[in-house]
Amino acid sequence: MLDIKITKIEKKKDKPTGPLGFGQYFTDHMFMMDYEVGKGWYNARIIPYGPIPMSPASSALHYGAEIFEGMKAYHTKDGKIQLFRPYENAKRMNSSAERLCLPQLPEEDFVQAVTTLISLDKDWVPTAEGTSLYVRPFMIGDDHTLGVHGVHHAIFMVILSPVGSYYKEGLNPVSIVIEKDDVRVAGKGGTGYTKCGGNYAASTRAGKKAEEKGYSQVLWLDAVERKYIEEVGSMNVMFKINGEIVTPALVGSILPGITRKSCIQILKDNGYQVNERRISVDELMEALENGTLEEAWGTGTAAVISPIGKFVVNDKEYIVNKQQIGKVSQMLYDEITGIQSGKLKDTRDWTLEVK
Ligand SMILES: *Cc1c(COP(=O)(O)O)cnc(C)c1O
Repeated sequence: MLDIKITKIEKKKDKPTGPLGFGQYFTDHMFMMDYEVGKGWYNARIIPYGPIPMSPASSALHYGAEIFEGMKAYHTKDGKIQLFRPYENAKRMNSSAERLCLPQLPEEDFVQAVTTLISLDKDWVPTAEGTSLYVRPFMIGDDHTLGVHGVHHAIFMVILSPVGSYYKEGLNPVSIVIEKDDVRVAGKGGTGYTKCGGNYAASTRAGKKAEEKGYSQVLWLDAVERKYIEEVGSMNVMFKINGEIVTPALVGSILPGITRKSCIQILKDNGYQVNERRISVDELMEALENGTLEEAWGTGTAAVISPIGKFVVNDKEYIVNKQQIGKVSQMLYDEITGIQSGKLKDTRDWTLEVK
């Protein structure tokens, strides 16, 4: 149990009145805590949201010692605020921390930091359909030396941002181009399974190139053989090919998404078989050519389900399911957002109320 010292903002900020967008506005407060080898975590505090003083020699700035998490708090129709599977985020942050030699944080403390901060800023949780409060916990290495000798000092923080509905005009299927040059992360043994900033830095170029050509995102292939499908943009990916639901197996270079895991559970509970296996780009091409690709979709906290309506390979376009959302993707979207918004009963103990 953390002893959190709270310093409240003197004058609350005005709430945004226009469209919220994503990650543009931040609430009144933030959570912060320090770590030192030998001392552990200390000085847990909630303070007004604002800039943090940093040494220009901080290891986060030079060597990319940074990991993060992403989750959302939802207003339910009966006026409660709830999180979706926050202990999964806590577990995953520790898995990322282990890979980057950052310190472990007890899951209970992670959840306590998040819920205490949300509770203090609860008037920032938007109430309109499809909106939510995005929660961004993150940890940085903060050693003030250019020598690389492991992490001795770290900082854990949580910031909150009210965000708008991802889909303004329903679930619009996106167009995806298959990326042949860049890879998202190195292969097995690399950092693909962690949520670290460095993975994002390296994947920006391909995403930018795709957008310039008028496509939404890229389909990432594996770094070793450039043959197996890994993820789509910054989401996990699923396909329905000839009746079979498939998603790339978690081979080390793929981020273990909580939405992915939840989709697999819901599919199984609804009697669908889901195969986690390797899927080659040739298999996808064949299914596109002979019309057996019934549905394709991305999964992630931001959009929950993002149907794919078009694949582009070597400048040739292939339409998926008449660019409509498919039956399976729609069912998953309705189930997950229904549980998150409190419209559907949470029979799996996935939600946590923020009091
Ligand atoms: C966060 C993330 C996902 C999705 O994970 P969720 O827990 O479902 O939000 C997928 N791929 C990458 C690269 C990510 O960073």
